[in-house]
Amino acid sequence: MVKNKTKDLECRLHGKFKMPCKLVDGSIEEKFILHLFTSPTKNKFLGDKEHFHVITLGDIKGKENVLMRIESACTYAHLYGSQLCDCQYQLKHGLKKISDEGAGIYIYCLDQHGRGVGIDNHLKGYQVEQEKNLDTVEAHLYLGLPADARNYGPIIDILNHFEIKSVRILTNNPNRIEILKKNNIPAIRIAHEGPLTKYNKRELRTKKEKLGHMYSYDFGD
Ligand SMILES: [Zn+2]
Repeated sequence: MVKNKTKDLECRLHGKFKMPCKLVDGSIEEKFILHLFTSPTKNKFLGDKEHFHVITLGDIKGKENVLMRIESACTYAHLYGSQLCDCQYQLKHGLKKISDEGAGIYIYCLDQHGRGVGIDNHLKGYQVEQEKNLDTVEAHLYLGLPADARNYGPIIDILNHFEIKSVRILTNNPNRIEILKKNNIPAIRIAHEGPLTKYNKRELRTKKEKLGHMYSYDFGD
């Protein structure tokens, strides 16, 4: 266990290694470094510890305007290519954009399935969406879950670990920008939109209408 220099950070670096990765265009980014951070969870839906994969590229320590992406776990899209959401695009193109820039930080929240309600509730959410014809927010409420249960404390700790001064964040979620700013990390949004399809249309429209996501799609109705 490697402890941070700043003692009040709860999210701790567990270890790191160099990880060449194949990107969405088939090229290999050879200079990614994967770090594992762990944090005590503040969320009753998860276990006692949260895990974060952090991929960094280039010299980001102490820098301003660092390109970043925060990704919540979505095994369905990230492992199998599920088209029910836009998570596959978000992951693949987030890493590609950081590689294209030659520097940046990509934070993968390994335990924050289903907007922080955990892997089992994420599945139940999809099940009641399909069985009861609910949208993703209605499904969470039907199950007695919050629409969004994510805690961003560890994200702030991770950015502070790298002494990042300000960021350009690839996101469509206004909460992320607000939380960064509240924690004294100035953030500029870079839109990160994949294709709108017949499979993800309902999910993305719900995220726009009920969760305030800044999509520019024409939903056509
Ligand atoms: Zn997803």
